[in-house]
Amino acid sequence: MIIYNINEAPFIKEMSDITLKLWEKGWAERNGGNISYLLKEEEVAPYLNTQQYLETIALPIALPDLANKIFLVSGSGKYFRNVIKNPADTLVILKVSEDGQYYHRLWGLVNGGTPTSELASHLKCHDTRLKQDADHRVILHTHATATIAMTFVHDLDEKTFSKTLWQQITECLVVFPEGVGIVPWMVAGTIELGLASAAKMEYCRIVIWAHHGIMGAGCNLDDALGLVETVDKAAEIYLRASAATSGIKQSITTEELKALADTFNVTPRVGIL
Ligand code: 13P
Ligand code: ZN
Repeated sequence: MIIYNINEAPFIKEMSDITLKLWEKGWAERNGGNISYLLKEEEVAPYLNTQQYLETIALPIALPDLANKIFLVSGSGKYFRNVIKNPADTLVILKVSEDGQYYHRLWGLVNGGTPTSELASHLKCHDTRLKQDADHRVILHTHATATIAMTFVHDLDEKTFSKTLWQQITECLVVFPEGVGIVPWMVAGTIELGLASAAKMEYCRIVIWAHHGIMGAGCNLDDALGLVETVDKAAEIYLRASAATSGIKQSITTEELKALADTFNVTPRVGIL
């Protein structure tokens, strides 16, 4: 079987493209942010022998339901702006072991290092989302500026926060009718943060980490980024409008949000409107 150059693989190009976009947005200062992308065996097979392991390492938490799944993941401490220049240094392809206790490194991190420090959050969120949606594939964490800023000035009750976001741009309710989840400030890179995020992902695809960033889920990289961009744009409008000296004169009303949901056939999360 012909093994092609992995640098030409569509998933590596997509990952290089999105990490650069995130850096251009100003959301990926230094090593800020991390991404994990569930790959199909048949996508990887032309480039790698998926039975050949470079090393095997214990996972931060056991995830038996992810057994044998393959993920493309950003490396810890790696800068998103450098992924496009050197994917093999900044990314890793790992395969969860048969028993879900370990991961096998198949490719990447050629100069050493480990997968993102938020690996527990990523894998636990994948586990949760896959149970909600068989098409789910991406978890994206980024330091989206306006969203972080909003967590300093808006109350952190996720229902009122979701409603405020829905009121900023008409499409918000249509894009994320389930609203957002919010976890309070927690120490980055912990299993506790992963478990808290995954609990929210049982009912929504966006989890905001107060004073830190955002975690978005999607069926592909575009889908996850589009969702995060929509939330952050709404947060930015909220901040700009609230800062205006004239004050807010009008907004989208609860009745108007209900009419929107009816027209677009989406079901807003109960208890918000
Ligand atoms: P990593 O470099 O370990 O992915 O950490 C970046 C980050 O954003 C932590 O929340
Ligand atoms: Zn972060």
